[in-house]
Amino acid sequence: MKTHAPTPELLLGYAAGTLPEPVALAVAAQAAMRPDVAAGIARLEATGGALLEGIAPATLSAGALERAVAALERGDADPITEMPVTANTRALLPRPLWAYVQGDVDALPWRKRGAGVFTAAIAGHDLHQMRLLRIEAGRSVPQHTHRGFELTLVLKGAYADGADRFAAGDLQVADATVTHKPVADRAGECLCFAVLDAPIRFTSPLGRLANPFVKL
Ligand code: ZN
Repeated sequence: MKTHAPTPELLLGYAAGTLPEPVALAVAAQAAMRPDVAAGIARLEATGGALLEGIAPATLSAGALERAVAALERGDADPITEMPVTANTRALLPRPLWAYVQGDVDALPWRKRGAGVFTAAIAGHDLHQMRLLRIEAGRSVPQHTHRGFELTLVLKGAYADGADRFAAGDLQVADATVTHKPVADRAGECLCFAVLDAPIRFTSPLGRLANPFVKL
C-alpha cells in the first residue's frame, strides 16, 4: 500500500474523531497544506454533523455543532505553547504542528540516522512515534520495511520512492507490504512529518546490522 493521499478510512476516521492523536495530526497537517484534502474532510464532517443533529437533544440550537467545529478549526489564535513559535517554524510547518514542536524547529534535538538523514521526536505518545525527518538534497533514507504503518507527510521539498514521487503536501501511507528507500530530490533538502506505530526494519545487508540499535 503506497498512496499520495489519506485513505478513505483515514479521512472518515478523522471526520468522526476516532483516529489516534498522532494519526489525526498527520491528516490535519495535510489538510492545512492542501485545500482539496480540507474540502474532503469538510464534506464528511457536514455529513456526520447532519446525522448527529438528527439525534441531538432539542436544546442544542441549530448549527451549534457546526459553529463549535468551525471555531476549533479556524484556529485564529496561536496554539498554547511553552516556548514562542518562531518565524522559522511558522514558515516550515503547517499550523497544526506548531504546538507539538514548540520554539524553533532547528533547535529540536535532531539525531543523525545515516548520511544526510536526521530525525527529531516532537512529542511523546504511548502508541505512536511522531518524528520530523530531514533528508539532505540527494541523500536517502536507508532501505527499510515496516513492522506497522508509516505515514509520511512531505512538508518541504520532495523525495522519490521507486517510480513514485512525493512532494510538499503529499502523504505517503506505507505498511509491512512496502520496502522502500526514499531519495530526496537533488534540488534541496526534504523535510517530512512521520507517524509510525512500530519501529521500521532495515533490509539492506549493512542496515540489518543496525536493526537492534536504531529506532528511526
Ligand atoms: Zn518507510
